[in-house]
Formats: sequence, C-alpha cells, structure tokens
Amino acid sequence: LRATRTKKTKTVCTFCGVGCTFEVWTKGRKVLKIEPTPDAPVNGISTCVKGKFGWDFVNSEDRLTKPLIRKGDEFHEATWDEALNLIASKFKEIKERDGADAFGFISSSKCTNEENYLLQKLARSVIGTNNIDNCSRYCQSPATTGLFRTVGYGGDAGTIYDMAGAGLGIIVGANPAEAHPVIATRLKRARKVNGRKLIVADLRKNEMAERSDLFLRPAPGTDHVWLSAVTKYIIDQGWHDVAFLHNRVNGFEEYKKSIEKYTLDYAEKTTRIPQEQLIETAKMIHEADGTAIFWAMGVTQHCGASETSTAISNLLLVTGNFGRPNAGAFPLRGHNNVQGACDFGTLPNFYPGYELVTDDDVRERYEKAWGVALSPEKGLDNEGMLNAINKGELKAMFLMGEDMAWVDANSNHVQSTLEKLEFFVVQDVFFTKTAQFADVILPASPSLEKEGTFTNTERRIQRLYQALEPLGESRPDWQILIELANRLGGDWSYASPAEVMAESASLAPLFAGVSYERLEGFSSLLWPVQADGTDTPLLYTESFPFPDGKARLTPTDWIPPVQMPEEYDLFLNNGRLLEHFHEGNMTNKSKGIMHKAPDTFVEISPELAKERGVKDGSLVRLQSEYGAVKLRVVVTDRVQGKEIYVPMNSTSEISAVNLLTSSHSDATTNTPAYKEAKVKMQVL
Ligand code: SF4
Repeated sequence: LRATRTKKTKTVCTFCGVGCTFEVWTKGRKVLKIEPTPDAPVNGISTCVKGKFGWDFVNSEDRLTKPLIRKGDEFHEATWDEALNLIASKFKEIKERDGADAFGFISSSKCTNEENYLLQKLARSVIGTNNIDNCSRYCQSPATTGLFRTVGYGGDAGTIYDMAGAGLGIIVGANPAEAHPVIATRLKRARKVNGRKLIVADLRKNEMAERSDLFLRPAPGTDHVWLSAVTKYIIDQGWHDVAFLHNRVNGFEEYKKSIEKYTLDYAEKTTRIPQEQLIETAKMIHEADGTAIFWAMGVTQHCGASETSTAISNLLLVTGNFGRPNAGAFPLRGHNNVQGACDFGTLPNFYPGYELVTDDDVRERYEKAWGVALSPEKGLDNEGMLNAINKGELKAMFLMGEDMAWVDANSNHVQSTLEKLEFFVVQDVFFTKTAQFADVILPASPSLEKEGTFTNTERRIQRLYQALEPLGESRPDWQILIELANRLGGDWSYASPAEVMAESASLAPLFAGVSYERLEGFSSLLWPVQADGTDTPLLYTESFPFPDGKARLTPTDWIPPVQMPEEYDLFLNNGRLLEHFHEGNMTNKSKGIMHKAPDTFVEISPELAKERGVKDGSLVRLQSEYGAVKLRVVVTDRVQGKEIYVPMNSTSEISAVNLLTSSHSDATTNTPAYKEAKVKMQVL
C-alpha cells in the first residue's frame, strides 16, 4: 500500500551549482513530477530542463544494484560482506606493506557534504594519508586560489540576489544560459526589467553574449591581459576607490607597479579586443552602482588560471567592489556540490572549513576528536596521484562518484594510468568508464535515495530528504563509508547524516552553527555560520579574514597559453550543453533528455566550413597530439575563424572531447588546461 501512495519530498537539484530546491512527487519508484515552490530560497518557482525532466535516470536499467568483484577480465556479483571484506583485507595488506601514502582517495561534487566529510575522515584517520582530492580540481580550484590570495575566502562574495542586483555584471569565460540556467534567467531579467548592464567576455557568442550590452571576444587564453589593462586604465583615470583601498586593502602601490606593462596598446595587440571596448568596459565599471564578476571554466581551465582569477579579484578590490551588496566576485560552481566537497575537507591540504593540515593546533584538535595521530604532510592532488601511480608509489585508490577516465583531461593517459593500480575501488551509481578499471565496484544511491546536505555556488547549505528507497542493493555513499571504516578498525557509529554534520560543526569553526534543525525544510544557511546560527549572506562587510582584516592586492603575471605543434591548426574550446550534466553520465540515462539532445557535435564557423568544404551534418575526424574523435559538424557563427567548440557530453567512446585535451595544467593548482587544446580536422 505504501508503495502506491503519492508523496512529496523536498530535494536539491544535482545538475548544477545554482542549488535549486523543489518538491519531487513520487509514487512507488516513479518520479511523477517536479514542483517548484516560492519557499525555495534560490530559484522560487523556476527550474531548467534538467531539473524538471532529468530524473528518470534513477530507474535506469543501467543502475548498479549489486557489488561487483573482478575475476580476471570479468566482473561477478558479490554480497556486500564479500566486497567490503575484500576491500578491507587488501587495504590492510597494502598499508602494512607500503604505508598509508600508497593510497589515494578521490571524492565527488555529486556527493553530499556529509559523504565528503566521511571520506576525508576515512583517508586521514583510518588509513592515515592526506592523499585526498575531489573533482573541483578539474574546474574551480584556480578561482578559489585567486580569492584566497586576495580576499581570504574562496567562495562567492554574496548571494544570487547580489548577482542580479549588481549595476553591472561581467561574465568572463562562462556560459550561464546553459550551465547555470536559473542564474542566467535572473541576470537576463535584471537587465531587461531593471536596466542592469551586462558585459560578456567569451570566445564564443553564446546566448548571454547575444543579450549583453558589450561583447568582448578575446583571443584564447588572454583574459588576464584585458582584465589587467582595464584595471590599469581605471587607476590611470583616477577612477579607483581611494578610500576603500586606503582603509581596507594592502599592497596598492606594489600592485599598481606590477600592471604598468598592461597598456591599452599591449592589451589590444595581445587580446585582439579593440581599445575602444577596453575603455568602454572601464567606463561601465566606473559608472556602475556595484560591479559583480562571474567566471567559470573559460578562465579556470588554463595554465594561467589562478593568475587570471587573481586578476579578477584585484580589479574588484581596486574599484571597491567587495563588502557591499550587489557587487563582488562570483566564481560559478559547476557541479551541484563543488563548494561543499571542498568545504568539507576532500582536499589534500585542508581539513573541513579550510584549516590547514600542516597547522599543529588544528591537527591536534582533529587528533583529539578522532583519537588517532594524523599526518602533518600535505597530500597529493588528483594530478599528483596519477603521477604517483605511474611512478609505482601509489598502489591503491578509492574513488567515489567520479568518472575520471572521461572527465579528466587526456583520457587515454588517465585510462592507461588507472590500469597500473594494484587495487582500485569505484563507488558509483552506474558502471562508468572508470569502473571498467576497478577491482571492486560498489553500487551507490543517487540524491533522491538519501538524506544529506549540499552547498551551492553562493555558499548556501541546504538539506535534501530521501524520496525513494535505494534501488536493489545499492546504498547511500555515507552508509558504505561507515561500513568500510568499521571493517578497517574505525569504530564509527553515525546513525544518520545529521550526526555527521553535528561532528563537523563541532570541529570546523566555519560551520559552528550548522545543524539539521536549522536547515529544516526549505531553510538554508550561508557559511560562515556562527554558533548561534547567524549566517553570512554577504562576505567582507566588516573585514577580510586576514590577521589585520585587510584584503591583499596580489601582483600576478600573464601566463600565455601552451604552444602546440603548428600542424594542429584549430583551437578547440569545450563546455556544457544545456540539456546535459557534464559528460552526461546521468542525463544520458534520461529518455526525455536524450530525445532532445542525443549526442555531441562540433561547432565550426561559416568561414572555416567554406574553407574546408563542410556543411551541417558532415562527419569529421578531429585529432590532437593525444587522441582523436569523430563528430558531426554544426556550422554556426557562435564560433569564429579557426576556433571550434565541442560540448563535453558524449555517448560514445569515439566522441568524448577529453580524448583530445592535454595534460598541461594550471601552474598553481594542477587544474587541467582543458581549454588549451589544438586539433587538426579531416573531413570523412
Ligand atoms: Fe538544477 Fe541548475 Fe537547472 Fe537549477 S539551474 S534546475 S540547479 S540544473
């Protein structure tokens, strides 16, 4: 009888970092509909196509429903006891023989805050290593670094209301109309109804560029240059915020000197942006009642990504655009829980709440709470772990909810590296490409089948409630981690994710007042959260989180894009498609979504199409130094000249864009430079 009753359950969308919440109507296992409500703090009654129609993947026949153990080249179904006991015994054997740092743990922004907390605790307190990272390494680490350097917190400066309320919004290397649709809707409405201004800087004439007041089209990898030139021009005109700089910021004179070379002339030559447009940009910032800058992978997936992110923050500091409403820095998080995965400690250098593993006082606090000695050494990030596998130093890996064989850059290299692991555990909802390299595969439950919290791009922590029972024998990640920790001697007794959050709040000052009671229903909290439950929608109103309370203008220099052999004559850009979630590992299982967007393609410009004699629907082979793909052509003026664009989702092994991308990475964070790829094209 229970199975046939219709019920409504509040959940948080998992398809992007906007963090829309709504009620999901279910009957048995059937998802009947998504019902947005005015109570939702971020989206109100809005959703996008993914949030509304992308949920039938939960009943896909492709779901993993039983643990699998490799025997030779095949996988065999196993009981949970068999699978977990095998993992525990192999982990013990490898730890005894090679030590704790022979392990690597990778978490996912698709998993909850509590699951991220537990995985880092498993790595640190049960195994004894800080070799833990999450998929934010692939996207947002440089943005976080740029903000840590300058303003002290790595998160968005304010809320979605500040984004839409800014007198001027500048979107750099982001495509919110497809990647963050509800934010895009608010920005569009703010411009149309409230007269806010919008500048878009992008290689591709995306929808937001079409709707902007000014469209800047820089040469690939040159955002740092035009941002610095605009900042210099503002200072030269005396348009900088003298009082703000004097009272709240350190390092102005040194910074001013560091950008002397970024003249308008130099910037125009380097970026191809006409000087008039650079002057117009500076003027619009000067005249705006608050400037907010939004950026994403078009900035962060370059070799100089941390430097460019720093340049963005510097520009906002020079113009006094921090610590006031409707202004500030807004890195747009891609996955639903990029922010939370990092917040809750699945990083090689930070405990939850961004406290350093190398800080003796912090480490002692965790040692006391967890009852074990902890490693004082910073661990390896994703790239470091792959290098360590290739050197034979890292023997075992535990990967939760991430398809790194497709989403990491230079897939062929990643896949051949994973083959070298002595023991590899993959915990996921589907039998992913990465799972093919595993020794044990554990079936996990997606968000509708569990409780927990996610933190969206604004730093807003929100609860999701369980709408469905786990399919087959699949289990929520948090339950699996507890079972595994206990088999490895962990003595964990959490009865619910609420208890995990309570422990985290007791240890990490950033979340001191976070509790499930305060997050009941559609309630939410934006960190930092004081012990009395006071949260922080707007950062930096009083001070910046540095010892003297002042922000730090940080000189940086432009790192030009990597040079590649001349035979690869086309610049390859890539990004999201509205209908799909990243590489598509959930939305590819949704019939409605697949009907609308069945596969990927390559966009090429009309001029390139003419030169190469291709038209819409032509089949081409793209080849880089690292691999090759075959794709159908879409001719469009969204791209220009020899710049081409491939969406990152794919359904087949011959069209995945990361077969083409390289292993070059951001100099500071090791985030892959996905946006610095070149290919040659052959018409088939
Ligand atoms: Fe989900 Fe993002 Fe769409 Fe909102 S905007 S419904 S969070 S995919």
